[in-house]
Amino acid sequence: MLDAVGKHVSSWDDSGSRLVVDAGSLVQSAACPRCTCSSSRLHGRYRRRVADCPSFDQAVTLAVEVRRFKCVNPGCPRRTFSERVETLVAAGQRRTLRLVEAMRSLGYALGGEAAAQLAACLGMRVSGPTVLRDLRRAGCPLPTTVPVVIGIDDWAMARGHRYGTIVVDLERHLPIELLAGRDAATVVTWLKEQPAVKVIARDRSGAYADAARTAAPDAQQVADRWHLLANLRDAFERLLLRCPGKLKEAARQATETLQLEAIPAETPTEPADVVPTELPLKACQRQSNARRECRLARYEEAVRRHRAGESIRAIGQAMNLDRCTVRSFVHADAFPERAQRAPASSLLRKTVAAR
Ligand SMILES: [Zn+2]
Repeated sequence: MLDAVGKHVSSWDDSGSRLVVDAGSLVQSAACPRCTCSSSRLHGRYRRRVADCPSFDQAVTLAVEVRRFKCVNPGCPRRTFSERVETLVAAGQRRTLRLVEAMRSLGYALGGEAAAQLAACLGMRVSGPTVLRDLRRAGCPLPTTVPVVIGIDDWAMARGHRYGTIVVDLERHLPIELLAGRDAATVVTWLKEQPAVKVIARDRSGAYADAARTAAPDAQQVADRWHLLANLRDAFERLLLRCPGKLKEAARQATETLQLEAIPAETPTEPADVVPTELPLKACQRQSNARRECRLARYEEAVRRHRAGESIRAIGQAMNLDRCTVRSFVHADAFPERAQRAPASSLLRKTVAAR
């Protein structure tokens, strides 16, 4: 990084909480930014202090020597100029490009305040508003691919008051655009700039359908699964709410049928003797029970063979079992049940436990 701008590390100081790296200049000549004439007539030098990415758990400051040269072109209005170090740090900036890039990546991923908090943990000092200011200056990263299959839906900036439209690239599963408004005109303006769009997944409202029909008439419109299910659920709820009397009657009949099925014919029918019905097992429980049955059968077979005088090696070979497994079976006092698996550790669990 320093070599690219003709610098070399001359010394460093980590006596304090910050690592300060002095970088001397090896630049013997530079081009005048005004007339582009090369000059090696040294005029002076100064130190430019910029923050760099942290290292060895310490914040890093680069004290970079910058040389000034006299312009040798008598016709140039510029008398002196500094050598260029733009590949290290942008003009007027106090952070190196790679530090700015690191903070920007955090900002794109997390937003202002969260990025600032994580940056502090990583040894980079920056405030939330600074992160946001830099993101506004940098703008949205340009998409590397043109969207072909997109999803369009509205989102609430302030629920019940202001809504926008979010556009998602459904092939890359990434949001690619936020539009201010959820009316057809807003979407039409954006869609007209996207000639590659072939499939548009949308909700079942009219605005987005009109927009897609106007701006991308050849694109296939698809009602997305979430909205179909949500609409179905809402319609079913409305249907049920329309006939509460019939609903109660159906529930009463269903309860009675269940109770009758649960009571054996010869037992008296007093409510106190009603046997509760056993809930059907879930698929995973059925699989678990089946696996336990297999393991139990293997255990009993291994124990039987061992009592008949077979060696552990012979049992393992005959039953295609590991010798350790056979040994654990034959030395156990009873069928060794599988140990319950402990819940998986997660960052959230650790954080909660630490508090
Ligand atoms: Zn010049």
